[in-house]
Amino acid sequence: MRVDIISIFPEYFAPLDVSLVGKARERGILEIRLHQLRDWTRDVHKTVDDTPYGGGPGMVMKPEIWGEAIDAVISEGRSALGVPAGAPRMIVPTPSGRPFTQETAIEYADEPWLLFTPARYEGIDSRVAAEYGSRLRVDEVSIGDYVLAGGEAAVLVIVEAVGRLLPGVLGNARSVADDSFAPGPMANLLEGPVYTKPPVWRGHEVPEILLSGHHGKIARWRRDQALRRTLEKRPELVDRLDPAGLDKDDRKILAEFGTACGVSFRARPHDVAN
Ligand code: SAM
Repeated sequence: MRVDIISIFPEYFAPLDVSLVGKARERGILEIRLHQLRDWTRDVHKTVDDTPYGGGPGMVMKPEIWGEAIDAVISEGRSALGVPAGAPRMIVPTPSGRPFTQETAIEYADEPWLLFTPARYEGIDSRVAAEYGSRLRVDEVSIGDYVLAGGEAAVLVIVEAVGRLLPGVLGNARSVADDSFAPGPMANLLEGPVYTKPPVWRGHEVPEILLSGHHGKIARWRRDQALRRTLEKRPELVDRLDPAGLDKDDRKILAEFGTACGVSFRARPHDVAN
């Protein structure tokens, strides 16, 4: 996968040299190219922003600079990849975008080429997304319901979530299938608790079942724990479970929490207890 990132703070991306993503880059699984947006400015101050039309506080990033930068990065990428007509999927981080989820990460992991345009100030002039939206796939994406100072941290989050899904990046591909939010019949569940040696630490014991060596019972226990944890911490996710994927034991747990899949969650555990 090729990833291009255009930013006024390319140095912000130093963490992409370490850990899993860094190794994926070393091994040629992931190629990340950083571009300084200011390289496309023409004035002596290297200005990338201007006052907003309509007034108001803050500054808005200028469309001409972004346009030239994006065109140049795409044409350079096309020659490097040898795809004269190829185009990246363009990802514009913004708090007003569609929420970034594990499903989105899986979708992006299938793309050969991603182009990120993290902004600063009040964001990029809206005509940039409109202009490229008519030629490329452009996604305005939010990493959560809060406002960052800039899109660089959002890009780090997305690249790490996508990078670990690329074939050959994780030592054990099965860990992706067991992750929280993993797709499948029990999609959207949080992962349950995990333990390692020693069996007793400061008086806290590892659940006995995990020491039993009984794979079937361990799998059942893990599924129960995942369902319980999801009900306790993110009950709204349970509404999105596929009822066809639930067995008798799952339904028992749902009933215990006062809910049923496909029926809006009404009671939290403490409501049931009281
Ligand atoms: N005034 C904008 C608003 O309220 O939507 C926020 C601008 S923010 C200070 C500057 C930039 O940070 C955004 O253009 C975007 O690139 C990035 N950003 C901030 N919060 C984000 C979030 N939750 N998800 C993705 N990007 C975000």
